[in-house]
Amino acid sequence: MSHGETIWTEDPPFPKNARDAVENAQLRRNIRKATTTIRERRASVVAEMPDWQALRETGQAIKDDVLAHLDRYLEQFEQAALARGAEVHWARDADEANSIVTSLVQQTGEHEVIKSKSMLTEEIGLDDALQKRGITAIETDLAELIIQLGHDRPSHIVVPAIHRNRAEVREIFLREMEDAPADLSDDPHALADASRRHLRRKFLQAKLAVSGANFAIAQTGSLVIAESEGNARMCLTLPETLISVVGIEKLVPTFRDLEVFLQLLPRSSTGERMNPYNSVWTGVTPGDGPRQVHIVLVDNGRTNVLRDEVGRQALRCIRCAACLNVCPVYERAGGHAYGATYPGPIGAILTPQLVGVEHASKLPFASSLCGYCYEVCPVKINIPSVLVKLRHDSVRAKKHPAEDAAFAAAATAMKGRRGWTAALRFAPLLRFFRRGGPPPIAQWTSVRDLPDPPKHSFRDWWVKEHTAQHAERGDGGSS
Ligand code: SF4
Repeated sequence: MSHGETIWTEDPPFPKNARDAVENAQLRRNIRKATTTIRERRASVVAEMPDWQALRETGQAIKDDVLAHLDRYLEQFEQAALARGAEVHWARDADEANSIVTSLVQQTGEHEVIKSKSMLTEEIGLDDALQKRGITAIETDLAELIIQLGHDRPSHIVVPAIHRNRAEVREIFLREMEDAPADLSDDPHALADASRRHLRRKFLQAKLAVSGANFAIAQTGSLVIAESEGNARMCLTLPETLISVVGIEKLVPTFRDLEVFLQLLPRSSTGERMNPYNSVWTGVTPGDGPRQVHIVLVDNGRTNVLRDEVGRQALRCIRCAACLNVCPVYERAGGHAYGATYPGPIGAILTPQLVGVEHASKLPFASSLCGYCYEVCPVKINIPSVLVKLRHDSVRAKKHPAEDAAFAAAATAMKGRRGWTAALRFAPLLRFFRRGGPPPIAQWTSVRDLPDPPKHSFRDWWVKEHTAQHAERGDGGSS
């Protein structure tokens, strides 16, 4: 999503992309099956928690406190991480983050890095930036590996290959994975086994890893990853050098706050009571894990989001994807239709704020405003209210000469009785626009009924009635 040369090149044409996507029956089946399963699992584990609403409120309060004092928490985090032997780097945008990571890799003389799943590195286009400098990044998360081998793009925050079924995954492995067994079946265990064998060699050879983080603890300078497969833990512990690329909004104040988020996150994201692997690492420990730990703290538009009183709540997001899994628009259009790193309801409010609403003007409209996303969000982000605000911004950001002229004319007509009476004489012409009319009127009338204007206006009726009454009484009054 960089504003630099790499990722963000155009305003995504969501309506067209969505129209194309809904015609793909296989895609719709894959997404519906996966989102229905996760949705049901989430609902059942959330129902077990009598204090779920209190947990949500606490999560919201912790994140709001972080956002209100972000400068202080960031400095606290930096000091604590430095004290434990990590090196901390600051990146204003995607280009800066990519060049920091690239030069750190180049300093080691390595040409290959292993990577754990990270939405932020997708956002900044890190893999491509490394590739341009002759460095290969190997994704180690199973779904990210499927995406990488398939020369594809992620379409979901937690399950990036949600649009692929197992038959398609088998085909990709047979085609692209040099050590895939020739008799590979589409049984999920066989597919997982093939990827495990393929990745194990890479893990053991790697000298360098790049990771993201779910949380960064200001009090201790620690980073946290919650995951299901254990691949991130391999990335965090096996290589000599670890580079963690972290968004500045990932902070939580204290270690104790994990108690809240490690309950909210797994139940909301994968419908599990807890993640199978929760890794916490702090700086460098001699004889244990990487000898060098670099932390790259990335802004890339986040401080702009922070400035907006309504929109800043998007920075509370813990990337659980619960809002995607319940969204009727996401379920039908799929993640690629959004044309951005973050799809679904969170993408519709985060992307326009990160890149500027004029560069993602259709995304705030990619919603039915049903409110289900708000209901399931573990940190209570009021997505519909941010969407409505961004719709307003999006309309304001563009010039609408015809609309502006129409409203200016209406304002003039409404200023006085004479003008309004004169304007009403043209009301019957509205019937020509009932179904159609020239653009941009047709955009409105093609999907909405414009009622027929009445034959007589209220004023005509009033004048007629009163003139008749006065005539009957013979007093010749005025209207
Ligand atoms: S907006 Fe809420 S529900 Fe959606 S991904 Fe973020 S935390 Fe999860």
